[in-house]
Amino acid sequence: MSNDSKNNNPTVPNGHGTPAPAPSNFLRTIIEADMTAGVYAERKDNQGQPLPQVITRFPPEPNGYLHIGHAKSIWVNFGLARDYAGRCNLRFDDTNPEKEEQEYVDTIIDSVKWLGFDWKDTSGDHLYFASNYFDQLYQMAEYLITAGLAYVDSQSAEDMAANRGNFGEVGKDSPFRGRSPEESLDLFRRMKAGEFKDGAHIVRAKIDMASPNMNLRDPAIYRIRHAHHHRTGDKWCIYPMYDYTHPISDALENISHSICTLEFQDHRPFYDWVLEKLSDGGFLAKPVPRQYEFSRLNITYVVTSKRKLRQLVDEGIVDGWDDPRMSTLVGIRRRGYTPEAIQLFCERTGVTKSDGWIDMSSLEGALREDLDPKAPRATAVLRPLKLIIDNFPDGHIVACHAPVYPPAHPEHATALRHFPISKNVWIEREDFMETPVKGYFRLTPPTADKPGSRVRLRHGYVVECTGFDKDADGNVTAVHCNYFEDSKSGTEGSANYKVKGNIHWISVAHALEAEVRLYDRLFSDPHPDAGGKDFKLALNPHSKEVITAYLEPGLATAMPDDRYQFERHGYFVVDRVDAVAGKPVFNRTVTLKDSWGK
Ligand code: ATP
Ligand code: MG
Repeated sequence: MSNDSKNNNPTVPNGHGTPAPAPSNFLRTIIEADMTAGVYAERKDNQGQPLPQVITRFPPEPNGYLHIGHAKSIWVNFGLARDYAGRCNLRFDDTNPEKEEQEYVDTIIDSVKWLGFDWKDTSGDHLYFASNYFDQLYQMAEYLITAGLAYVDSQSAEDMAANRGNFGEVGKDSPFRGRSPEESLDLFRRMKAGEFKDGAHIVRAKIDMASPNMNLRDPAIYRIRHAHHHRTGDKWCIYPMYDYTHPISDALENISHSICTLEFQDHRPFYDWVLEKLSDGGFLAKPVPRQYEFSRLNITYVVTSKRKLRQLVDEGIVDGWDDPRMSTLVGIRRRGYTPEAIQLFCERTGVTKSDGWIDMSSLEGALREDLDPKAPRATAVLRPLKLIIDNFPDGHIVACHAPVYPPAHPEHATALRHFPISKNVWIEREDFMETPVKGYFRLTPPTADKPGSRVRLRHGYVVECTGFDKDADGNVTAVHCNYFEDSKSGTEGSANYKVKGNIHWISVAHALEAEVRLYDRLFSDPHPDAGGKDFKLALNPHSKEVITAYLEPGLATAMPDDRYQFERHGYFVVDRVDAVAGKPVFNRTVTLKDSWGK
């Protein structure tokens, strides 16, 4: 019974299988205005075929694992392309050889696919690497130098930093700014040929050292790095800078709307400068892409900085990048999140230009909403206590059954799960109280003036508590009861028994013993790293508890990624990494109700 989502249908799920109309936002407004004006309507690809009017891209740097914040960017870019009959490219911004690895390329590809998006369409496979443009990027830099729009600077890194000025103070021209294009070009070629050490020279765009925008104070466009690149090997010892590469990659891929997060707003003038100079120079087609910024997704109770996530892994605070408590997409997936829940969450939180925090409970709420109508139900006893039905004949076994699906599900009435009852059953420790508190309706022992309480063993019989056993330390080791043979659920007699308590149970002889990992939030502070705080001081000491639980026997065949609602406990998923056939390990995805906001 695999209920893992293999749904590649990109319509926005609303938890009930019907697509919901996407609400408007400022990006949609811009796109619709551009389409009305036909800004990108006349473009053709290299084969002369018309290009879609909306082409976006998701441009990760392959230097780590994607996290929930990236899911937002993926959803924005792929979602807009889908909604406006366009396309979205997956592009690796791999211009930083030291930090990038194939491992990250692979996991990023996996995560985007898992979220339900695809970069292949009838026009081709739109997976790109900025490193594939190294030759063109180099040619364009030669052009900028020749045209007097860039120069080789040979200041030391310290002088360059000092001469850049700061917000209140204009920068100073480099003594090398007046170099002739010929001299700069010669140096640039020798940089490429490997004649110089790292940092000896750098190529800078010649813009304005007095600009109030620091990004326009002659930004670097090429630097020397004698480093092996995960795709181009040792072919290059000079690498283009991100701010130079990004607009060019966008233009070469015919991106129309280049969407990024707000911290890039100040980089936009340089983005436009590069595109203007190179399209005027005939290197890039017009109309050029335009950049738009939206606010990043910040969620409470998590960290998303790659550096901090890496620290959690390296210091063994979590069990790897895919630890189910991590905010990485591989972690969230292993935790049991569905792509539908993440899309629903992105849809709800919308696209804005104002920074803010989204509470973790909205992500969890979207998940519950997605899973509630579709997750098969199952019984699990997490904190077991033995209940002995003394008047149940030894060796006697009676079949019981219950619906697999919740009432809202179309198969509710037909799909049944089967589990037997016998003399000894496991119940939850909390379902017995020696001295009951007011309003407690579960198992309580007889007293001098009252018989023991009666409860229904859900989908089984009504029982009456007759006593309990204790060990020398005073711990309750077993509870005793008698059952009423004519009270079985689904039989006529059952109507004669009115009880207030209804508890779940698993036959001891038939129970599936399984490891269950009870995960909770990794941090107990809603803003673990705000204001430069040490996020490791905010760790929740109870974020993981491993227990041995007793489950209904049918769960032995559960497959990795199968999700269930364990009644009364929450949503659980079969761990995709550690389970072996016939011995599933379950991760708690989320409890049934939010207990954090209280
Ligand atoms: P981080 O700073 O969190 O490590 P990053 O920005 O360095 O992430 P990239 O690989 O450069 O990681 O990001 C790819 C894309 O994802 C970029 O367009 C970036 O703006 C976007 N992105 C990253 N984090 C978020 C977020 N929290 N919300 C929305 N978009 C994000
Ligand atoms: Mg980045």
